[in-house]
Amino acid sequence: MRHIYLDHNATTPVRKEVLDAMMPYFSEEYGNASSVHLKGQHARKKVEEAREIIGETIGTESVDIVFTSGGTESDNLAIKGVAMANLEKGRHVITTAVEHLAVLDTCRFIEEELGFEVTRLPVDKYGVVDLERLKGSIRKDTILISVMFANNEVGTIQPIKEIGRLAKKNGIYFHTDAVQALGKEPIDVEELGIDLCSFSAHKLNGPKGMGALYIRKGVKIIPIQSGGYHERKRRAGTLNVPGIVGFAKAVEIATKDMQKQNKNLKKLTKRLLNGLQKQLNEIYLNGHPELRLSNTLNISFRYIEGESLILNFDMKGIFASTGSACTSGSLEPSHVLTSMKVPPEVSQGSIRFSFGHGNTEQDVDYCLAEIPPIVKRLRDMSPLC
Ligand code: PLP
Repeated sequence: MRHIYLDHNATTPVRKEVLDAMMPYFSEEYGNASSVHLKGQHARKKVEEAREIIGETIGTESVDIVFTSGGTESDNLAIKGVAMANLEKGRHVITTAVEHLAVLDTCRFIEEELGFEVTRLPVDKYGVVDLERLKGSIRKDTILISVMFANNEVGTIQPIKEIGRLAKKNGIYFHTDAVQALGKEPIDVEELGIDLCSFSAHKLNGPKGMGALYIRKGVKIIPIQSGGYHERKRRAGTLNVPGIVGFAKAVEIATKDMQKQNKNLKKLTKRLLNGLQKQLNEIYLNGHPELRLSNTLNISFRYIEGESLILNFDMKGIFASTGSACTSGSLEPSHVLTSMKVPPEVSQGSIRFSFGHGNTEQDVDYCLAEIPPIVKRLRDMSPLC
């Protein structure tokens, strides 16, 4: 049976070139990047080269990049770190209702444990945040705005530049979770006015458990974990040298290929959507029709449950998901689709197809042959039809 992986927003396979770059740093070049001897220096040199590659990609200097264990830690460090360092300045944070749990739960934490007030902005039917509402929510005690770059479930891209401008004008730090955007969309922290930016390597064919946080010079932040002076006292813990090397390689490849890759991904997602629309009625695209990640296609199949679809797709070797991997297993409707006011009877049958490196037109054609009969069969059995 063919295996068609369409769940790249959950994670991606590590590319061969990335793995090759990482391998020596598990064995021959095993030094601790904090050690002063030659082995340590070799590791340190490679880490600093990686930091430069990532810094350059997002238009900043390498010293502003802090390596972390992934997107979740980067979001935690950005939000908790800024909240704890700026308590006397204010205790109000603005975010959106469609963030990843790494942001939503961290905001809840600062509400419950640090006495913050958090404004969660609504979005429109495409998942885009309303800039006027954002403007109206800014208060004297607002210290941070955290709005994701691109949504992991529906792919909608937020008006980052406008938010950056607004934050700067009001002297508020701007954090964006760019975990799904790195390698898929151009990111220039200067041009976009971003003060803190979260990344994760495993979403762009790099290793799992590896991430970074960009912290603009001058941002008042305190580390959230104790235990050493690593990363200029911003993140304690021995550096994951192979992970860092792999992350930089993945960023290098994704950035170089970005335009070509996006063009191809757009073609594939369009082919799948058009093909399904031709064969099935009552299917709806979720997310913005244009301002969307090229690889992400979130479709609601009315009258059926997303979980049944996933199981039936799985039996045919098609791997997709109902939404975020972090919320899978929960029977609650997606908070993203609910915020976009997708009615529950429609959102319950939603599937996220997320494409990536290696997917082909043949993959799409296989899906177009296998998916419609599954949908028709499940609809025939559905009491909702
Ligand atoms: N933020 C977004 C938007 C994500 O999609 C994810 C992963 O799904 C994360 C944060 C968490 O990243 P990580 O898996 O590296 O902790």
